[in-house]
Amino acid sequence: MEYLKALKINLNLFDVTSIIDILIVAFVLYRLMLLIRGTRAVQLIKGLVVLLVATAVSSLLNLNTVHWLLKQTMTALVVALPIVFQPELRRALEKLGGGDFFARPLTQMAEGDRSALIDEVVRAVQNMSATRTGALIVLERGTGLEEFVDTGIKVEGLVTAELLVNIFIPKSPLHDGAAIIRGDRLQAAACVLPLSESRELSRELGTRHRAAVGLTEQSDALAVVVSEETGVVSLAVEGNLYRRLNETGLRELLVKFLQPKFEKRNAISSLWHRR
Ligand code: ATP
Ligand code: MG
Repeated sequence: MEYLKALKINLNLFDVTSIIDILIVAFVLYRLMLLIRGTRAVQLIKGLVVLLVATAVSSLLNLNTVHWLLKQTMTALVVALPIVFQPELRRALEKLGGGDFFARPLTQMAEGDRSALIDEVVRAVQNMSATRTGALIVLERGTGLEEFVDTGIKVEGLVTAELLVNIFIPKSPLHDGAAIIRGDRLQAAACVLPLSESRELSRELGTRHRAAVGLTEQSDALAVVVSEETGVVSLAVEGNLYRRLNETGLRELLVKFLQPKFEKRNAISSLWHRR
């Protein structure tokens, strides 16, 4: 009897600790997913999963040579990965250490700061539209755009209309490509974005517009385009292109899409971010 009681208490204890254990692992995995969402690491992890599955299957089917080869590949990868992904790993560690709190996501900035930023962007866009200066301005939301920031030239300057207009002056060294805004900072300019392959885009739209749409197909970012040929202002969101926006139209859409509720992270994660 005593023995059974002790066993029961033990079992109960085991339950509680396992639940805590599972919750911690789930939380860590979830944070990891948020960390790598929208980066090259996603592709990598898919590749690793395929390799793992293949290794398991080859062992089950007693394909000894294939299994041996796959196992060797895995070992080689374990050594190679930290070297190839050194920048990503460093970034991840910096994030863990709180490095990314320097720049708050736009959707989590104080309302006043956010509308001031939208004002600067709208003012710059109106100016460039009037002078037919081609521009491509990206606003980061939940998905990290670090991999695209890395293709450009770091700026890390406070966003002002003057800075934006200056960047897109034709023939200036930074005008070719996209400018990426994170929080209240212009992170980088002259960034290369992925082109959309959508057939629904009108033929009159060239690579600048396709780059804007392409990025928003792959991430939750917003991309504002000023056409060099026509001065027309467009906004790309989730693979859609809102065209021919006037000043109020652009402002309203930016305010709408930069509201915190459009941030895709859920409540737990925003609690974490608010700490
Ligand atoms: P516009 O109406 O301004 O002419 P468009 O959609 O017709 O725009 P293009 O005329 O092809 O596009 O514009 C070319 C410019 O777009 C390039 O000089 C470059 O600044 C920008 N651009 C093109 N491809 C990319 C890309 N993949 N990423 C970022 N910017 C790009
Ligand atoms: Mg063109």
